[in-house]
Amino acid sequence: MAGMGRGGRGRMGGRGLGPGGECKCPSCGTTVPHKRGVPCYEEICPKCGSRMVRP
Ligand SMILES: [Zn+2]
Repeated sequence: MAGMGRGGRGRMGGRGLGPGGECKCPSCGTTVPHKRGVPCYEEICPKCGSRMVRP
């Protein structure tokens, strides 16, 4: 899915969570961009330090 519109307001992707697009913190709800090759559960929440999950 490639968004055709330009209009980035700082974030890539508009609505919804694209497959593999973001990881979410189950504790505080913070989302971070998902990195290729790095599972969400290896990402650490920048706010609370919890491990992220796939939404
Ligand atoms: Zn968190």
